[in-house]
Parts: sequence; C-alpha cells; structure tokens
Amino acid sequence: MLKIEHLSASYKTIDGNVHVVNDVHFDILDNEIFGIAGESGCGKTTLLKALYDIIEFPLELDAGRVVLSGEKNGEPFEFCSGEIRKSWWNHISYVPQAAQSVLNPITRLKSQFLDSIPKQGRGSGMERGSALKETPAQTLDRVANYLKELELSPDILDAFPFQLSGGMRQRVIIALATFMSPSVMLADEPTTALDVVVQRGILMMLTRLQKRLRNTMVLVSHDMGVHYQITNRMGIMYSGSFVELGDTELIFNDPLHPYTRMLIGALPRVGDKGQKQGIPGRPPSLKAPPPGCRFAPRCPQARDMCTQAAPPLEEIRPGRFAACHLIRPEV
Ligand code: SF4
Repeated sequence: MLKIEHLSASYKTIDGNVHVVNDVHFDILDNEIFGIAGESGCGKTTLLKALYDIIEFPLELDAGRVVLSGEKNGEPFEFCSGEIRKSWWNHISYVPQAAQSVLNPITRLKSQFLDSIPKQGRGSGMERGSALKETPAQTLDRVANYLKELELSPDILDAFPFQLSGGMRQRVIIALATFMSPSVMLADEPTTALDVVVQRGILMMLTRLQKRLRNTMVLVSHDMGVHYQITNRMGIMYSGSFVELGDTELIFNDPLHPYTRMLIGALPRVGDKGQKQGIPGRPPSLKAPPPGCRFAPRCPQARDMCTQAAPPLEEIRPGRFAACHLIRPEV
C-alpha cells in the first residue's frame, strides 16, 4: 500500500541543511494501523509530511521516494512522491497536528464541508458522474448520513467551530478527512491536548473507522500508550531514523532496542507507587548529531564500537527489525 524507499528529507536553513529524516525504508501494509512513535523532534511529523507529499520550502526531499498503490472500487492506482497530491482525499487523507484549529471558527460547519467536498471531486458512495451533478443540499444529506454513521449529530453542521469542544472539533476533522473513504489516512498526534476520556473516544472512533473502511491508517504519536491501544504494527523513531519496527504487541512484550525498552519502562502502570523516571538526557541536535549510533550518549549499554559506526536497521526475527550493534539477527 505505502512503500517508503530510502527516504531522506531535510530543512534548508541559513546554516545549512538540517537532516530530519535519514534513509528511512519500510512498508506500511493494507488494512493495518501503523504507529510512528518517538520523542518530540525525532522526525515523525516530517516523515508524515513526506508520506502526504507536503514537501514545501524549507523542507526538501533529499533522496528516496514514497509509493502509494492499491485498488479502489476495482480500479488500480499508483502514485509516487511528487504526484501523491493528485490522490489527496480520494486515496490518501491527512489529519494534521492541532487539526482542531484548521477549522474556520466563524464559518458554519456545513459551509466548511461544502467548501472541501467539491475540491475532493465528490463521489463518495456515488458514481462520479452523478456526484458531479449533486446539489449542495444532496451533498449535505450525504454528509449528515455519514455523521450519523460516525455517531455524530448532524445538527453540528449548523454550528460554528467555536461552539464545539476540542474533542468534537477533532471528530469533525476526522469525519471530513474520511468522507471520501480514502485508502490511507494519516493522523498526526490526533489525541494531543485532549483529556483522557475524550482521547479514548477519539481512539475508539479511529479504530471503528479503520474497521469500517478496511483501509490503512498511519498514526503519529509521542504517547506510547496510544500505540499500545490501537496500532497493529509500529516503528520507533530516534533522531531521524527507525531504531525498532515490528508488531506492536511483540514490541511491548519484548522490546529489542535499548531506547524502546526505556520508552516502555517510562510508562506509568496501575499500582505504581513511586514516580516514573523519564529517559535521561536529551535527543541529539539534528544539526550536529553524534558519530555512530545516535542513541549512544544516552544508552546505558553503549560501548566503544557504538560511537564508531551507525548500526543498520536489520531484521532480527521475522517481522522484527532493530538497529543496535548488540542485537544480532536470528533469521
Ligand atoms: Fe546502545 Fe550501542 Fe545499541 Fe546504540 S548500538 S543502542 S549505543 S548498545
């Protein structure tokens, strides 16, 4: 579905390029929720932008490409980096970070749906030819029915965004992003800044939607708990690259990479009495990363060889990948 082939991306600055995504190479499969985890500033959002083809100054694609392919309504499709924009909304959609602020606060939601849907080409659940003849009232009927399917009241179409809670605005954005039944949906920190109860509701909505659409969802979150709750597979990013990738349950049960172990170890657990310690130290500067393994300055298992060469991401067991000199492939 989504092939990411040796992708590197950087931000152009007056001091030179800052390499934020470094030779990332992996596949995201049909009908799965794939999570991208890691601390702030590790390159998650930039990677997601590259998947959605939002390569705009100062961001530059240095190498590699993304290939989006599959079949929708019996028609095969394939788009590569540079042409993925043509497939926006219909084949791939994107819920950006802080999406709640994307809505115009002083325009009724029905107008915002109508403004977006014609740009998408319409056609969700209808023949494209007849959809083009659809009147605004017919489109709003379909939107209202879709909102009901998502257990949202169609009455919100008459509301202004400022009248809705942050959680409800997030649900509306997700409804808008999935109205065309995209084959792939990307969501960047969809639960950040929401309280725990609302967060759970959004995660349940995403899970239900993925099951209904049987599509692929790529979820970026710094919150490992979010990944544990809804993703099938996940990748852990550190300083622009994946350091571990595999089945989410297996990663949580048996993390391979020292960084993954520390991320999971820092999660609060029921019955914890003491205060949890975060991961000591800070992620390295992407302007001047350390030589060798970039995690070495924070890694309790680091040794001399770790600073001499960067460990490649290798398949350690079938479907389990890690980048660490101390972990040898078993396959
Ligand atoms: Fe730690 Fe060395 Fe493995 Fe890097 S390569 S994670 S420094 S043990």
